[in-house]
Amino acid sequence: MHWRQPEIKRTKTVCTYCGVGCSFEMWTRDRHILKVQPVVDAPANGISTCIKGKFAWDFVNSEQRLTMPLIRENGRFREAGWDEALDLVARRLIETRDKYGPDSLGFIGSSKASNEEAYLTQKIARLIVGTNNVDNSSRYCQNPATKGLFRTVGYGGDAGSIEDIEKAEVVVIVGSNTAENHPVIASRIKAAQKLRGQKVIVVDPRKHEMAERADLYLRPNASTDLIWASALSRYMFEHGYADQAFLDEWVNKVDEYRKSLEPFTLEFAEQKTGLSRQELIEAAEMIGQAKSVSLLWAMGITQHSHGSDTSTALSNLLVVTGNYGKPGTGGYPMRGHNNVQGASDFGCLRNMYPGYEKVSEDSARERWAKGWGVPKEQLSDKVGEGNFLMVQAAAEDRLKAMYIIGEETAFSDADSGNVHSAFTDLDFLVVQDIFLSRTAEFADVVLPGTPSVEKEGSFVNTERRIQRFYEVLPPLGDSRPDWRILTDLAARMGHNWGYTHPSQIMEECARISPMFAGVTYERLAGWKSLQWPVKADGSDSPLLYTDGFPNEDGKANLHPLEWQEPEEAPDDEYPLSMDNGRMLEHFQATNQTGRGPRIWEEAPGWFVEVSPELAAEYGIEEGTWVKLTSRRDSIEVRALITDRISGHTLFLPIHQGKPGVNALTGEHHDPDVDTPAYKETAVRLEVLPRE
Ligand code: SF4
Repeated sequence: MHWRQPEIKRTKTVCTYCGVGCSFEMWTRDRHILKVQPVVDAPANGISTCIKGKFAWDFVNSEQRLTMPLIRENGRFREAGWDEALDLVARRLIETRDKYGPDSLGFIGSSKASNEEAYLTQKIARLIVGTNNVDNSSRYCQNPATKGLFRTVGYGGDAGSIEDIEKAEVVVIVGSNTAENHPVIASRIKAAQKLRGQKVIVVDPRKHEMAERADLYLRPNASTDLIWASALSRYMFEHGYADQAFLDEWVNKVDEYRKSLEPFTLEFAEQKTGLSRQELIEAAEMIGQAKSVSLLWAMGITQHSHGSDTSTALSNLLVVTGNYGKPGTGGYPMRGHNNVQGASDFGCLRNMYPGYEKVSEDSARERWAKGWGVPKEQLSDKVGEGNFLMVQAAAEDRLKAMYIIGEETAFSDADSGNVHSAFTDLDFLVVQDIFLSRTAEFADVVLPGTPSVEKEGSFVNTERRIQRFYEVLPPLGDSRPDWRILTDLAARMGHNWGYTHPSQIMEECARISPMFAGVTYERLAGWKSLQWPVKADGSDSPLLYTDGFPNEDGKANLHPLEWQEPEEAPDDEYPLSMDNGRMLEHFQATNQTGRGPRIWEEAPGWFVEVSPELAAEYGIEEGTWVKLTSRRDSIEVRALITDRISGHTLFLPIHQGKPGVNALTGEHHDPDVDTPAYKETAVRLEVLPRE
């Protein structure tokens, strides 16, 4: 008998890693992922991908995948059927709500799950439980940037497209290791620099790859970015680079803002930032003379105790120079997870419904109540707690139950020791994930969801681009698509929504939310995509602010600011400043990139980067074990000596370690948005005697 090999199947999918949103074909035979094939039609990446998108898929068929629900019994997990697990979860959530009130529960949606799944997460929290305690991991990363954009220009997303970044005469990259964290965008900048003469300014304490390639590299002291940005704004007014016509027509509070810049002289900036007058003037002249400037920023700005203010200062500088609403201009907070933008857009935020409508506004509450067929009074108008404060509330026994989807909160939240004891104290914790993550280890019930390649749905990338992904493989074992788990759970809680396909969830959201009015699965079919806001006729918005700003009077606002000292800075006891961030090869807690040999061989170990000066001062050699101690805890790690950093600053990748870097980080946070100040951690270092 002749044996025929099964056909090779090609399916379009969207990368599950960073916010660039690369899409490509995945070639499979049975469950084997044969290769990832980029295609020219892919809107964000064309024929490019990075190592993760191309090779980091071993996790999909990992033997460590969860394939059955787990229930904790007598301190150990046992496998359970779906009916038993979902009945238990529904019962415990309802009991907790009825006994302690709706705000005794908290929901953390996944920044890796789909838009439709984010929508259902917040719908369960708001409509069934009655709380706005719902959030996603943007709380840990770009919420301060969103705050800065809301304060100034009005939309919580990138001002234009990746194409605009490419078109800009000058690109400014601040606190973003773009080459490792958003590699395909970095490639497009490198090409524009080489082929079109685009000028690149990089501002960062760490001399990463884009800093090496920059036309101008500035290395300011930590936590002083608001100062140089404001000093540059002042320079623009004083040297005729402020765009007066734009300010007159489109901007409020110009005089008030200009007055607030009085303290930000070049002398003050020199003294505080450590940058020279010449460096500051060179940056100001490059930005002031350019016809178009795009400014990218990331965690190096936002994960500080005043990250919202610094984000606002960067956006102020763009407003002053008229760099919004024209091709090649705008502010671009680089989104980290594949769908951290979408998780916020589709409502996993403590204060906003999908489409950024405030829960505290009557008209928004009325719209959503009507859309969901309930009286307005059934929806809470009280702003909820974000991730970080939910954990604090659990530690203080105010929060009794949590439902966490695909987030590694036990590893990624600041001061992880405190997080672990808060989770231990919870009455009931549900974790929905594809692996028994460090967070799942604390759960009472674990529900096995699926990765994106085992379901359909849509993601939003960093440029607000909504893209569909298709089912490449069937769910492994008895795992289930997350939208289906949430739909089944809602039914057990008395709300039979009856969704049988994610397109129906998107249809519902588009019917209620003006921002997504014209989004349909047909308009997103294949390689097609839409950038929000999308009007009912299907026209979308690759470049924002071309005909005004979404504030009441249609104008942008300049927002006066004062610089404030960081909450935690080096002192005699903890004399070093610890920076931290991602590596190209890995992603977050390595739950995906760490499951197979291909990526692990590229980046197997964990290390702390130490400057040559510090190595000489402490007698550290390459590979020496060192102990780092903060006010919270200690970790031990090998040293890597490199001039990527300087002086008394250290850099630690966030991916590895037991405990990891967040054993050291603290509870101090940005009071505007409650984002932990991960980048403001003072430590001391001891050299360990062992090999
Ligand atoms: Fe995936 Fe980002 Fe790499 Fe593209 S650049 S392949 S989206 S990780």
